[in-house]
Amino acid sequence: MTQASVPAQAGVPASESGPMVRAEQVHKSFGSIEVLKGIDLEVRAGEVCCLLGPSGSGKSTFLRCINHLEKINAGRIWVDGDLIGYRERGGKLHEMREKEVAAQRQAIGMVFQRFNLFPHKTALENVTEAPLLVRREKRAEVRDRAVALLERVGLGDKLGNYPSQLSGGQQQRVAIARALAMQPKLMLFDEPTSALDPELVGEVLDVMKDLARDGMTMIVVTHEIGFAREVGDSLVFMDGGVVVEQGNPREVIANPQHDRTKAFLAKVL
Ligand code: ADP
Ligand code: MG
Repeated sequence: MTQASVPAQAGVPASESGPMVRAEQVHKSFGSIEVLKGIDLEVRAGEVCCLLGPSGSGKSTFLRCINHLEKINAGRIWVDGDLIGYRERGGKLHEMREKEVAAQRQAIGMVFQRFNLFPHKTALENVTEAPLLVRREKRAEVRDRAVALLERVGLGDKLGNYPSQLSGGQQQRVAIARALAMQPKLMLFDEPTSALDPELVGEVLDVMKDLARDGMTMIVVTHEIGFAREVGDSLVFMDGGVVVEQGNPREVIANPQHDRTKAFLAKVL
């Protein structure tokens, strides 16, 4: 990878001068098994990057590395110009302290295949939990923001419902609102619609489309080719821990260059 995309200059937000996400030669192993074998990737601010690939290709692991849920063995990841997990001092990299890690994680929202809501909290409480506990924001402000977010995802009439009283699609929309409540600059989605009944997929994708239109930077692991084609600014196809092919989603889907991409698309289209 070249050094063409330079890190942010001092005082200039990276979102104006460089990519929102930049991964350079990211390697990750579990024991002796290398799962990520040198991932290079860039996502500019406001763009939607759709990450596709067969099961086991390392998509979830890559997302988890961006969000500190896994520690990489080699390479670098920057989010908004900020090196994930490390500080540079005196020309050397030092591992971040827990507090700094927490601050970086707060700027990154993540939505999982399984919604992982707190079962004994209402929709509203699920959304207010982190801002109140982690950031100790004012209760009234947090509540107003949470109500507005739940209205935005179409759940203004479900504030008091518990997860068990919501459909899968509604629960996933609460999970999205919950991630947004921390006002992230980047949203990671890991197969957000894979666990849903087919008739509930559309309502979650609509919320994600709305977010994309609003300018949120997103990395979306998905098998929803229609979404990638319609909403994606870039498509990255991974297989076996490497990026096999990437480009404009409409071009890659219509005219895949690699056999592995062709075989995969033939299965999901
Ligand atoms: P994908 O999301 O593309 O299906 P994953 O990132 O979940 O792929 O997994 C990639 C590979 O890494 C798989 O072979 C999986 O078994 C392995 N893997 C993922 N997490 C762990 C872990 N915590 N320990 C050991 N192996 C793991
Ligand atoms: Mg996965």
